[in-house]
This record gives sequence, C-alpha cells and structure tokens, in this order.
Amino acid sequence: MLIYGREIRDRLKKEIQQFAEENRMSMSIILVGDDPPSQVYVNGIVKFGRETGIKVDVLHLGADTEESQVIRFIRNLNEDPAIDGIMLQKPLPEHLDYNRLINEIAYHKDVEGVHNYNLGKLISRQQGIQPSTPKAIIRIMKEHDIAIEGKNVTIVGRSTIVGNPLSVMMTTENATVTLCHTRTKDLKKETLNADILVAALGRRNYITADMVRDDAIIIDAGINFDENGKMFGDVDEEAKEKAAIASAVPGGVGVITVAELFDNLRQICMMKQIQK
Ligand code: NAP
Repeated sequence: MLIYGREIRDRLKKEIQQFAEENRMSMSIILVGDDPPSQVYVNGIVKFGRETGIKVDVLHLGADTEESQVIRFIRNLNEDPAIDGIMLQKPLPEHLDYNRLINEIAYHKDVEGVHNYNLGKLISRQQGIQPSTPKAIIRIMKEHDIAIEGKNVTIVGRSTIVGNPLSVMMTTENATVTLCHTRTKDLKKETLNADILVAALGRRNYITADMVRDDAIIIDAGINFDENGKMFGDVDEEAKEKAAIASAVPGGVGVITVAELFDNLRQICMMKQIQK
C-alpha cells in the first residue's frame, strides 16, 4: 500500500497560513550556483510562501562566489531584524564548506535546524528547531498510525540534514536504529533486518525487492530525476509493491518537507514572542 503526504501538507499549510495572518514572518534563502533540483526545491518554497502570505527572499549567488563573501551575506542577514529565518540550500559548489557556513547562521534563525546548536538540542532531547525532512518522515508515519517504538529501523544515508538527525529522532521514539552508508559491509543484510526501512541515499531505485521483507514499512525520502526530468525515489517500484506499506515518490515525504520548513519558521516566531 502506498501512502501519501498531500493531505498532511494541506492541513499544516492551513495552520501556518492562519498564524501568518496575525504574525508577520519572513525567510531568506541563500542559493549558490545553478543545481537544477535545488532550483526546483527553492521555487517550491517561494510558492508556498506566496500562498501562505510569508515573505521569502532568494539570494542567488554565482557558483564561483568565495566563502568569505557568502559569510558576509549570512552575517548581514543575521543582523537584519526583518529576517526571521535563514536557509542555505545544499548542495554547494565544492570550494564551499557546508558545515562551516551553516554554523555562521545565527542559531535562532536556523530554520532548517542544522546549526550545531539545534543538532545539540536534538541529541540532548531538548526542544529546538528540528531538520525538516526527518520531521516530515516522523509526521507521515504518525499520521498513518505506523508504530515506531520497539521496531528495528534501518536508515540508508547519514547526511546532516536527513539520515543522521533522523537516527536520533527515531531513537527518541524508542526504535532500535541501524544507520547505513557507503562503508556498510552488507547493506542487504541490514535492510532485510528492517521492520521500517528509510531510504535517504540519493540513488535512483537503488533499493530493490530482494533487499526488503514483505512485512516491511518503507519510507522513501529520495528525490532523483532522470534525463527527462521525471522524479524517482531511492526505492524501486517492485520493492514498494512487495512491502506492506511504502511512501510514494513523488507525493510522499517530499511534499511535507516544505511545510515543515515553514512550521519551523512559525516555531522561531513563537519563541521570539515568548522571549519578548
Ligand atoms: P547526501 O548528503 O548526498 O548523503 C547521502 C548519504 O547516502 C551519505 O551518507 C552516503 O554515504 C549514503 N549513500 C550514498 N550511496 C550509498 C550507497 N550506495 N549505499 C549506502 N549508502 C549510500 O544526500 P542527502 O542530502 O541526505 O539526500 C539524500 C536523498 O534524500 C536525496 O535523494 C535527496 O534528494 C533526498 N532529500 C529529500 C528531501 C525531501 O524532502 N524528501 C530533502 C532532502 C533530501 P557516505 O556518508 O558514506 O557518503
């Protein structure tokens, strides 16, 4: 059975729109270079902002922009009281250090929840801004009454924005987590052990039917495009048909992620109001 995220996204969007009617919110996105999937993702964020009455500015910098210049732009945004949230779109050109730059963003404007401050809060189970894709994954599961506690969860991919924070969040939900990556010795053994398999590796249709159990739950976070611009997940169709439940691509986790980003912006604004 395939599960989708549109209804969940629409509900969240309505809540965010209602909040935005009474609270001015704004976000700035720094986009460096011309990666086409990034452009599509950023356009989706701008559209969501327009539809919910939230100001979203995009600072589009050339691929050859020096790190010191990007830092200068980030610091200007940090100091601008009109900007509530700042996001640095990934991937960056190779000469730019993502981890260095992300930690230049003021932690209280870190709308993606990837600053060391917010990741530290995540690990120590304190309330903070959480990365939006793992949040979307947990939300799609809970909304579809998929139990996490006590389950063996295998996550393929250990990035700072998806796999790694998700492993912490799944542990907080009382799952037993196996986190896989390119040096995992026997990936198939690990995926076959999964009650819940999360694919977040960025390889089109990499997870095949022989790698999943027929009672497994598959959450496919992958977003990959072929040469014609058609979207694919990290898990192939046959594997999804074999599994008990699988999230759709397109239309699954991805559609909720943008709403989670704006939910984070709402959280930042609420925290600001409490601190006033
Ligand atoms: P990333 O930074 O490139 O990380 C990919 C991870 O997958 C790395 O940890 C890598 O291992 C691992 N990996 C790659 N190939 C592998 C293989 N053959 N076997 C085992 N592990 C492998 O990617 P990301 O930013 O996390 O994104 C992952 C996927 O999620 C992409 O398709 C991306 O488009 C998608 N995504 C979706 C959303 C959404 O809203 N649904 C949001 C963000 C990203 P190493 O660490 O060893 O290199």
